[in-house]
Amino acid sequence: MSYLELKKVQCKDCYLCLRECPVKAISFADHRSQIIEDRCILCGRCMHVCPQDAKLVHSDLPKVQQMLSAGKKLIASVAPSFISNLGLTSFEPLRQALKAFGFFDAEETARGAEWVTHEYARILESGTMKNFITTACPSACRLVQEYFPQALPYLAPVASPMVAHARLLLHEHPDAEVVFIGPCLAKHREAAESGVVSAVLSFDEIKSVVDLQEDGAEAAAQPSAAPTEGVAMGESGNVTCRAKGYPMTDGIIHSFHHLPGGYHYMSVDGPKRAMEVLENIDNYEGVFIEINICPGGCINGPFSLLPKGGTTKARLQMQQYLMQGIHSYPTIQDGEVAPVDLSYEFPRVLNRSRKVSDKEIEEVLRRTGKVSPEDELNCGSCGYRSCRAKAWAVLNGYADIEMCMPYMRQKAESMAFDIVHNSPEGILLVDGDLNVVDANATAMEMLDIPGDTMNFKPRPLKDFMPPLDFFLAYSQQKNMEVHKQFIMSTKRYVDIVICYMKDQNLLFGQMKDVTEEVSYEKKLDRMRNETIETTDQVIMKQMRVAQEIASLLGETTAETKVALLNLKKILRQEEEKKED
Ligand code: SF4
Ligand code: SF4
Ligand code: SF4
Repeated sequence: MSYLELKKVQCKDCYLCLRECPVKAISFADHRSQIIEDRCILCGRCMHVCPQDAKLVHSDLPKVQQMLSAGKKLIASVAPSFISNLGLTSFEPLRQALKAFGFFDAEETARGAEWVTHEYARILESGTMKNFITTACPSACRLVQEYFPQALPYLAPVASPMVAHARLLLHEHPDAEVVFIGPCLAKHREAAESGVVSAVLSFDEIKSVVDLQEDGAEAAAQPSAAPTEGVAMGESGNVTCRAKGYPMTDGIIHSFHHLPGGYHYMSVDGPKRAMEVLENIDNYEGVFIEINICPGGCINGPFSLLPKGGTTKARLQMQQYLMQGIHSYPTIQDGEVAPVDLSYEFPRVLNRSRKVSDKEIEEVLRRTGKVSPEDELNCGSCGYRSCRAKAWAVLNGYADIEMCMPYMRQKAESMAFDIVHNSPEGILLVDGDLNVVDANATAMEMLDIPGDTMNFKPRPLKDFMPPLDFFLAYSQQKNMEVHKQFIMSTKRYVDIVICYMKDQNLLFGQMKDVTEEVSYEKKLDRMRNETIETTDQVIMKQMRVAQEIASLLGETTAETKVALLNLKKILRQEEEKKED
């Protein structure tokens, strides 16, 4: 089952989560980001740093609602950090709210924690373990099981408070199912593996479904009612409340009535410090180490509702709660034997990552341009601690070779350089003082700029071409197009696109040699003019011929008219003679 997933559409491949992940359990191979489930210790750190909120967390809330609808007898085991997370000063209001929601009952997980400390004390006093690692943190256990097998013999073989409490509850209510409520993502996996916890809810989920009445000082001063039939209330007093401090750093150490002798007691929190200690555990002797992966302990868990920087306040709230000495579970007497088995087995956990050889690593490094130790920048921008760690991830199929930013930048820059410097178009950069600060070989040739591209020295633009259009583009901060600009020195014509680059405060000029087009146009013009002239001459000639023909025709017509009139006159005269 996936307890944590990446929402692919939201992930922007910034690698922030990978940088934060202590065990590099996020894969970005083949441009697909996903949690590597068999490597993930469910510490939840990636959830908090993701600026895109691209993490999807599994929820047991629908399952719990379904179980309630089906009439199941559910008992809640509530982590002590409810105090700081839900803003309460006692357990009773939460217990009542959970019962009103449908739970058969609710108890503080601290009851199980007290038995766990009791069991720790028994083993410590036996003096059988060289070093002793204690933790209520499933992420810490997984870290040992999967990544630090050398520390496994020192991991106390005792159930966590959640599992111990669930066993107690099921011992007392065999027909019930236990739902753990707390601030921890990793409890989901632990619950599934334990076989005694049916579901896990966060404080946030609980807040969204139960009607939580504010508790007052009065309620806080009252011991809550015995939660379970047949279980007697313990005597009130600070001593028996110590196990409620488990969610704070040092909480386990402070939960002992008397610290068994023969050990140095210390605690570490945060993955980095935990890993340092686990790495070296074999070198220690007689060390008792309490580990929490969340800095500050579970009060600061992945689902904690504390505001940023609220850990100190939460710790104070927890300490005040401890000081009240309110009990909701029976006190354990010295020498008392637990009614349930408190042992737990932590087997070695293997993942699918493979070992890679130095030769393979070197080959990957070489493919990203790292051929000597100086090339290994170890900058961490890919999300891995070192170039070699990233190469290992590439070989395991967890990372793409392109994830190396300096390499990609270098590659992009060299590509950009190649493109610019091999471009058939002239490219030049002009600054605000109208100096050419860089130009490619084509531009240098077009404008007859002396020197070479590799060692370009800024020069005034006016020495090579009229600078007016560049001046206008710069002063108006806009792009411009210039057509058929004549370059005196090379007798060329160029079309220029001038772009104002705001961020760099530079002008980018892209020039196309249009000399041939201009000559061709000129030739065409000439031909056109010559054709027009020839046409005019032909027309004139034609006109002249036409006029001549017309005048000839006119003369003939006049002569014919005169002849015909004479003929008509003669005929008429002859007619008149006949009549006379
Ligand atoms: S933090 Fe991780 S999941 Fe979130 S956007 Fe960046 S790469 Fe993606
Ligand atoms: S939950 Fe923790 S271990 Fe898992 S991917 Fe996120 S940061 Fe890594
Ligand atoms: S140089 Fe590249 S591979 Fe090395 S740490 Fe930086 S980004 Fe990762």
